[in-house]
Amino acid sequence: MFDQLIPSPPSEKTSCPLWLSFSARHLETHRNTWKLRIASLAVLILTFASTSFAQVEASPQDYGIPPGSVSPPPPSLALQHSYDVLNYHLYMDWYNVLANKSLRYDGIMQITFRPDLVSPLDSIRLSPGAPYLTVDSVTSGGRSLNFTSDTAGIYIILDKPLASSDTAVVSLYYHVDNAGPSGYANQRGFYLYYGGEKMSGGYVVPQTVAYTMSEPSDARYWMPCYDEPSDKALSEISVRVPDAYTAASNGKLESVVNNGDGSRTFNWVEHFPIATYLMCATASIFSVVTADYIRAPGDTVPVQYYVYPEDSVAAATNPVCNVDSVVSMMKFYSSIYGQYPFEKYAMACIEPFQYGGMEHTTMTTLNRKYEFSRYDVAHELAHHWFGDNITLGTWKDIWLNEGFATYSEAMQLQHVSQPGFTAEMNYEENEYFMEYDTAKYAIYAPPPALIFGLAEYYKAAWVLNMLRNIEGDSVFFDILRTYLADFRFGTAVTSNFINVASQVTHTNMDWFFDEWIYGQGYPIYSFTYKTFPGSFTFYLKQNQINAPIFRMPVDVGVYSGGQETTFNFVDSLNLQTVRFSYPGTIDSVVFDPGDKIFKQVTAWTDTTLPTLGSPPSIQVYPNPFNGVAQIQYSLGVDSQVTIDVYDIIGRKVESLNEGSQQAGAYQVSVSNHNLASGVYFFRLHTDSGNSVTKALLLK
Ligand SMILES: [Zn+2]
Repeated sequence: MFDQLIPSPPSEKTSCPLWLSFSARHLETHRNTWKLRIASLAVLILTFASTSFAQVEASPQDYGIPPGSVSPPPPSLALQHSYDVLNYHLYMDWYNVLANKSLRYDGIMQITFRPDLVSPLDSIRLSPGAPYLTVDSVTSGGRSLNFTSDTAGIYIILDKPLASSDTAVVSLYYHVDNAGPSGYANQRGFYLYYGGEKMSGGYVVPQTVAYTMSEPSDARYWMPCYDEPSDKALSEISVRVPDAYTAASNGKLESVVNNGDGSRTFNWVEHFPIATYLMCATASIFSVVTADYIRAPGDTVPVQYYVYPEDSVAAATNPVCNVDSVVSMMKFYSSIYGQYPFEKYAMACIEPFQYGGMEHTTMTTLNRKYEFSRYDVAHELAHHWFGDNITLGTWKDIWLNEGFATYSEAMQLQHVSQPGFTAEMNYEENEYFMEYDTAKYAIYAPPPALIFGLAEYYKAAWVLNMLRNIEGDSVFFDILRTYLADFRFGTAVTSNFINVASQVTHTNMDWFFDEWIYGQGYPIYSFTYKTFPGSFTFYLKQNQINAPIFRMPVDVGVYSGGQETTFNFVDSLNLQTVRFSYPGTIDSVVFDPGDKIFKQVTAWTDTTLPTLGSPPSIQVYPNPFNGVAQIQYSLGVDSQVTIDVYDIIGRKVESLNEGSQQAGAYQVSVSNHNLASGVYFFRLHTDSGNSVTKALLLK
């Protein structure tokens, strides 16, 4: 889902005070953090939301919809349950809701399932749809089945126990009562607006539209189902609408049947398993603008805009984003992630809609205000790899959807503009810091009210950016492609992704995900340095509270006469002191010059530096070396000594515990038979500070 709407251009980001751009963009769009922000920033809201920004972006209030009509999801159930749904075959009659302003529609849902954990299976329980959805009767094979429907769910007793090898079909005849235009606040799952209707605030509905919106857990209110993301199934969705209307849904349009009574029935079939929150139906007066994405010779994927007729020319020609731009985005994503996985890609562009967009599989719902925004379009399209193809196993894993889609969106930008990418990543970092002032939580298993919080979008995008910086593009994209291949059309939880990262990098990556995904917060560094003849000492401190001490490979940029030299080491301490050999005069020192780390940097305020009167030092020879490296080190004071060796991406490959040593000079050998050629960092740890040098292993 996309809550963040059109980011400001970079110039605005740099010229605007942070709190100003914050209020302009997220106040009205980020639905779950929204209430939180109102509480904490009431003054700002009063000042700005009511003046220049209120009409700029979509918000529930723009449409006269009170906020908070969507409650957080219930706790996710187990990844498996007593049965496995194979197919949802749904028929909904929307003729009267569209033609006659009826508040009720009738539906029939046929569910095909088989026993999963329980066999023989004598009953099934579906998610509770009350008070919106009422089940009128249930049959199987033409026979009526006993059922109950209450707040615990729809409980159906099968007419005979089902063995593990069997499948069964039950049909539920149901109706949905929608509060309708007299009470938009009460709509849930199924939304209905009439063209020409004036809503509070003066907004006039441009076109009659009926649609479903489910994420995270509202599918149960418009179709009977087992409403958990881990139980993916095929879908067949048929919708009867008045002649002039088009009903759009998931998958392929198999047929449009003219019923001869002023109505048509659109029959859609999704041939890949999808989660219930990704199933949808959207009906309005649509023009369809189509382009082709050639996936392979003879394999063409239709790319379509379903737009209001007055938008059809723009869908083909809008200079910022049009149907051909979407084809280009599909080519780009396919080139880095592997081929687009589904049978079509379409976007139904409507309003009023409370969000920027929603990645309903192959039929994204886009807010019409942003139908030609490259950000929204790129985000929802990216979900078709991350979210729709691989679906989160539980709502605790929401970052596997939103972090990946948000970072994909930034990479789409990077594909055309590196400065644009940098500006966007900086923007996301600062926005998250603002949220962190009021809401501190880890990315994994966010509080239910914050499952669409900025940690899941922006911080999670940055976690992927850092993983890419540490591992390099080749390994990073190998991780993503392996993950996509291993969990294709299935579900994954956070530990699945971490395991893939460890497997592809041939190293245990738990340390990285433990601090960034399971831990909350971010490092707040301060640094300073002191020069010595032929060397300098760099002091790095982590100042954050309510967050762990972060271990990260870090860069230090040294500038002298316009020349930059970069030093690296692995920081993992509250206070780190590192000595580097450097013969020249230093003009300035910059920490993390490439901005690779999600962090804040504050001024060094300590008036005294840690004592390094006789700084420890380390050298390696020969350099380059092979066979055995000779390490020489010296101590100014008595100390405990360890020497760690790291490879170029910060992985520790050797550790020597030298024990307690008196001040003096020492030499120790280290063999390297199992190490690959490359640059290695030798880090001396002592009680009075650390020293790092590097040497090249050539085999
Ligand atoms: Zn999203």
